[in-house]
Amino acid sequence: MNYYSTRNKDERVRAKEAIFRGPADDGGLYVPETIPAFPYEDFLNAKYEELAAAVLNVFFDDFDPAYLKESAKKAYASFKAEGAVGYHDLDGITVAELFHGPTAAFKDFALQMLPYLMADSADGRRVRILTATSGDTGKAALAGFQDVENTDIFVFYPADGVSTMQKLQMTTQEGNNVHVFGIRGNFDDAQRTVKSLFRDEGLREEGRASGIEFSSANSINIGRLVPQVVYYIYSYLELVRRNTIAMGDKVDVCVPTGNFGNILAAMYAKRMGVPFGDFICASNKNHVLTDFIQTGVYDTHRDFYKTTSPSMDILVASNIERFLQLILKNNDKIREKMESLQETGRFEISEDLIRRAKLVGYWSTDDEGEARIKEVFDATGYLMDPHTAVAYDGIKKHGSNRHVLLMATASPYKFPETVADALSLEKAGDEKELLQSIEETSHMAIPEELLEVFEKPVRFENAIDIEDMARVVREGFDD
Ligand SMILES: *Cc1c(COP(=O)(O)O)cnc(C)c1O
Repeated sequence: MNYYSTRNKDERVRAKEAIFRGPADDGGLYVPETIPAFPYEDFLNAKYEELAAAVLNVFFDDFDPAYLKESAKKAYASFKAEGAVGYHDLDGITVAELFHGPTAAFKDFALQMLPYLMADSADGRRVRILTATSGDTGKAALAGFQDVENTDIFVFYPADGVSTMQKLQMTTQEGNNVHVFGIRGNFDDAQRTVKSLFRDEGLREEGRASGIEFSSANSINIGRLVPQVVYYIYSYLELVRRNTIAMGDKVDVCVPTGNFGNILAAMYAKRMGVPFGDFICASNKNHVLTDFIQTGVYDTHRDFYKTTSPSMDILVASNIERFLQLILKNNDKIREKMESLQETGRFEISEDLIRRAKLVGYWSTDDEGEARIKEVFDATGYLMDPHTAVAYDGIKKHGSNRHVLLMATASPYKFPETVADALSLEKAGDEKELLQSIEETSHMAIPEELLEVFEKPVRFENAIDIEDMARVVREGFDD
C-alpha cells in the first residue's frame, strides 16, 4: 500500500519509507491511500498479537509477514494483562485498560512495536528519533528504543508540565542511546520546534553528512497510528466475547484526547468495518477540540492551562490534519487550512462534515474529573486516572444510549497527587508513600515499573530553552 502526504497526493511512498521519515517532507502527514475493509468477525478468537500481525499486514504490506508476526509477539509479550488490554465493566460502559504495558500508559501499544518497524525500514541507516512529549510518549518511546542498534533518541518534555511520576520515569531512563531534556515551555512549543527541525533542510543535510537521519516517535508517524487501530478491533470483539453485545451491534467509543491520534485510530477501525457509533472526544480545560467539533472553527488563540490531566494539555492537535483527510479528502484544501493554522492560528471547516463523521466533543474541569474519580470509586471500588475520568465525564455529558467503550489511557499511579486529592487521602509522605497509600485504599496493585523508579538514579536533570533544541540535537555531528 502507498502512503501520501495530506498536503500533496503526488508525494507518494511505501509504508517503510513513510515510517522511516516520520512526517512528510512538505510538513504534511502520511496517510494510507485507502483504508481497506477488514474481516474483523473472523478474529473473534484470535490472540492480541495475531490480530495485531493481521492488521499490520494490511497496512504495512511491504514488510515480510513473518517479521511482523514475530515482532508483534515480542512487542506484546511484556504486557501484564491477559491479551494485552484489561477490561472492567461499569454500568453501560466497558473500560478498556490500555495501561498494562511497560510504562503504564497506552503509548506502549505503538511504541513497543515501532522500534521493530523502524529497524526494518531503516535498513542499516542510522536514525535519530526526535520526540516531543506531554508526558507519556516520552517514557514509552525511551523504553521502546533503549539500546536499539543504529538508533538514538531525544525526548523533550515541558519541564513544569508533567506529573512527578512522569518526570521520574523519563529522567531515570537507562540506556546508552537516550537523551532527555526538560524544556522551558509547554508541549505545543516542543512539538512545534521538533516539527520545524524536521523541515530544516540545513540541519538535515548536516545530519546526513554525519550519516544520521531524523525520524519521529510522535503520532505524526504512521507507524504509531496503525498499531493503535488493533486495540479498537480487539476491544469490539471482546464485547462480543463477554456477551455484552452481539456481533454487528453498534457501540460508542470515548477517548480522552490530546494530539487526536488515539481517537483517529478508532475512526480508522470504523472505516475498516467495525460497527462504531459515536466518537466521543473528551478534553480538559484546553478545549480547543471541543470548540472545533461544536463550531467547525479551530482557534488556538486562547489561554493555555496546566491541568491535572497533563497528557491532554495541547492546543495544536497534529492528527486533526489526518482527520481532515478523512472528511475533506481534497489535499489542496487541507494544505490551505494548515497554512492558515500556521499563519493565523486558526482555520475553519463546515461543522456539518464533523457531524457526519459522528464526532462529538465535551470538556471537563479538573474538579469535574476529580468528582468522577471519587464517585466511581465510592460506588464500585474502581479507580480511574485523571484522563480516564475526563472521558467518563464526557460519556455522562453525552448521554449515550448505546454501550460505550471507554479507553483508559493511563494507570492512576502515574498521577498519584490528583488521585489522592480525589479520594481525600493524606499527602504527608513522599511520592512512594503516596503510591502505597493509594494501594492500601484501592487494593489495586502498583505497577512494578513505577516502583522501580525510586531505586534508580536520576540521569537527566537539565532544563533547556526552546532555542537550544536545535543545538542539542546536533550532538555527535562531525564539524
Ligand atoms: C497521550 C495521552 C492522551 C492523548 O492521546 P492522543 O493520542 O494524543 O489524543 C490521553 N491520555 C493519556 C494518559 C496520554 O498519555
